[in-house]
Amino acid sequence: MPHLHKLIDRLTDLVGQHANLRFRFLEVCGTHTTSVVRHGLDTVFPDRLELISGPGCPVCVMPVGYIDQALRLAGIPGVIMTTFGDLMHVPGGGHRTLADPSAAGRGERVRVVYSPLDALKIAEENPRSEIVFLAVGFETTAPAVALALEKAEAAHIDNFSILPGHRLIPPVLRKMAQSGNLEVDGFLAPGHVSTIIGMEPYAFLPQEYAMPVVIGGFAPEEIIGALLLLVTLVANDHYQVINAYPKAVSPLGNMKAQGLVAKYFEPGAAFWRGLGEIEKSGLKLKEQYLNRNAAVRFKIPFRDVPDPAGCSCGSVLAGRLKPTDCPLFGLACRPEHPVGPCMVSSEGSCAAYYRYGKGGSRVVPDFVIPW
Ligand code: SF4
Repeated sequence: MPHLHKLIDRLTDLVGQHANLRFRFLEVCGTHTTSVVRHGLDTVFPDRLELISGPGCPVCVMPVGYIDQALRLAGIPGVIMTTFGDLMHVPGGGHRTLADPSAAGRGERVRVVYSPLDALKIAEENPRSEIVFLAVGFETTAPAVALALEKAEAAHIDNFSILPGHRLIPPVLRKMAQSGNLEVDGFLAPGHVSTIIGMEPYAFLPQEYAMPVVIGGFAPEEIIGALLLLVTLVANDHYQVINAYPKAVSPLGNMKAQGLVAKYFEPGAAFWRGLGEIEKSGLKLKEQYLNRNAAVRFKIPFRDVPDPAGCSCGSVLAGRLKPTDCPLFGLACRPEHPVGPCMVSSEGSCAAYYRYGKGGSRVVPDFVIPW
């Protein structure tokens, strides 16, 4: 990969030209984290350049109280719970998971699906059951949930509901920028989320907080290219949003998808693991669709529950701690025995560092930088 070699050399030269500066960026997206450590990019970054993992794993940011709600719903007779696979193994209060039949009460009624439309199909095929879909994700997956609701409404599939759990990226970035604890100089913004929302929702970061934003793709050369732009912007005190992933992201995003989501959802306050409650950072169902909210339908309200003892997932998601600095990392907490969700999800930074990282347990012992 000679092209990648050259990009890394350019990045090293550029950082070297600014000996009085450090460059610390938040990679917002869990897929970026995974790509960085999987390809060993963090081992070839020049000194004074550092990437910090952020809150970009949708499963990880869900608070324990949401998992507990799901467990309680799964235990209701007649309910078939449907979910993406990652959520099955996220511990709720008392380390119970949806994969644990005794915890869910009716484990055979929890089914893994690949899309909300799969869940809707189960609803069609099981008219005497109540089908609940755990609607977790960022802006990227919200349109698929809205589409499932659209089809459920059109076909009068009334036994289909969701447990709303979608989170929105710009409000959490605002909260992090506002906190004053986040010692970063700019943001590597998530490519997938940006395909839906476009560039404008990030504009407040350069305008109000003097922090540049570069939307990046996920291949090694795309990540290094985005970092070159971020270093250039910081070195020149130039604050703006740059789209370095134009093959997938347009300035205005996917307006059709945005319209579909806006038909069923509106922003509302939501809890994030490690970051607390954040105004307008979640998607709640609009008043006229409240009957599709499983928490309302079955009267299972959200309750804030403490994180598992000793788990530092909240600090990792808030960019305050590296996964390898958690005392449980690789010891009490491993993928086969996760203490927190960051060790469960394929987008979780603890899982990524464990599998591929230089500070991890070298589960891939023959790991080499692939060039
Ligand atoms: S290593 Fe495990 S216990 Fe530690 S922060 Fe990550 S998920 Fe939580």
